Amino acid sequence: MAPLTIAIIGCGPAGLAAALLLARQGQRVAIFDRFIAPGPVGSGLMIQPTGLAVLAQLGLANEVVRRGARIDALQGIEEHGKTVLDAPYTALGLAGAYGLGIHRASLFAVLLAAAERQDGITIHPDHAVTGSTCDAGGRRLIFAARDPSAPFDLVVDASGWRTLFDPAPKGVLPFGALWASLPTLPGDPFAGNLLEQRYRRAAQMAGVLPIGTRPDLGTPEVAFFWSLKADDYPAWAATPLDDWKAEVLRLWPDLAGLLARITTRDQLTFARYAHRTHPCPVGERMIAIGDAWHSASPQLGQGANMALLDAWSLAQGLAEGRTLDEKLRLAASWRRDHVWLYQWVTKLFTPLYQSDSRVLPMLRDRLLAPLSRRWPAAGVQAQLMSGLFGFPLAPLGLTPPDYAGLSASRINADASGESHS
Ligand SMILES: Cc1cc2nc3c(=O)[nH]c(=O)nc-3n(C[C@H](O)[C@H](O)[C@H](O)COP(=O)(O)OP(=O)(O)OC[C@H]3O[C@@H](n4cnc5c(N)ncnc54)[C@H](O)[C@@H]3O)c2cc1C
Repeated sequence: MAPLTIAIIGCGPAGLAAALLLARQGQRVAIFDRFIAPGPVGSGLMIQPTGLAVLAQLGLANEVVRRGARIDALQGIEEHGKTVLDAPYTALGLAGAYGLGIHRASLFAVLLAAAERQDGITIHPDHAVTGSTCDAGGRRLIFAARDPSAPFDLVVDASGWRTLFDPAPKGVLPFGALWASLPTLPGDPFAGNLLEQRYRRAAQMAGVLPIGTRPDLGTPEVAFFWSLKADDYPAWAATPLDDWKAEVLRLWPDLAGLLARITTRDQLTFARYAHRTHPCPVGERMIAIGDAWHSASPQLGQGANMALLDAWSLAQGLAEGRTLDEKLRLAASWRRDHVWLYQWVTKLFTPLYQSDSRVLPMLRDRLLAPLSRRWPAAGVQAQLMSGLFGFPLAPLGLTPPDYAGLSASRINADASGESHS
């Protein structure tokens, strides 16, 4: 079959992974992004076993593991010091499994470098897509201040949750979070291998996630985050930084050293999230993947991982289907159940950690926390956190990552003094 010409809108994890997988099939791929120079926005994220399984297929898992920080468990402690969330990856029963905290820039750099090395991919920055048209010749992209593109056999919408191609209301959540990437220093009071969170009911949450070493930086960092309602952002912006720090320290006194590294408000980015699912991710010569198809609060840390699974599924669908329409429908069908499941689970869990409710955090602390330590809830909790709940890998022909091999490769790289940056 002649190679397809494919336009991908968006150079995030979904777009870059899809470009790599499709170009390796021999398709001709053009990525269009509105950014002026390639680069991600934001701080850290968690790579789960699901996302790592796709990165392993791309031959990029070793590099991502070397740049990130191994995370062995998620630990949440409420304001009186009681542990109300303890989710170790060992409860998965998957030998050597762990999560990976990583700066977005590190993940982006690994994917972008691979895309730049790969024949058949061109990247077009400064191309903000405003729409598209479709006729017998193919689908063209429309840009803000340029002529429309040549026609493509297929357009992949990987433009994130603000996608223009889903006209439905975006379902923006009331809570967002302030994020900062901060250097670690010797003597910091963090475990280093945990995603640590502190809660005051569900109205306040602070978190620290180790995220490894960014390209061009020699120092390992952590992502610090502080839950904030969008309506309260103007008041926060008008409050002296030290007053806000004092509020954070009342919840988590050990953060004093870390907060001292925040000297200006510019170090903090306020991120908002939307909970939405595109009702129809497949259209004529078009498919939505990643956040453009489904997005949710990052409470379960799944978005980038789901995006990587979608990209993999798209490549599988294109390889297997007989007509373009069948290829796209297959790709969406292999992901639909897992997407549906996680959208619901995230919707149920998010208010336990981010809401004004007094009842839900009480249920979380008094009922769910003790229950989660018992069999089989501990295993289910680990499955939920790792993205493996609902068995998403088997229908895609994927297997869990080889953690022993990844650890050995990291040890060898460390021993040979290979740079992490
Ligand atoms: C604070 C925060 C923390 C998170 N933590 C985690 C986590 O721990 N684990 C996890 O898995 N996920 C996490 N997520 C979610 C994760 O970031 C997203 O799910 C993931 O980035 C989605 O990837 P994507 O490629 O689909 O979209 P995006 O990463 O949003 O990329 C979209 C790309 O499209 C481009 N674009 C947008 N519109 C246009 C247009 N009109 N024309 C051209 N280009 C366009 C953008 O510039 C961007 O490069 C978090 C999200 C946030 C906000």
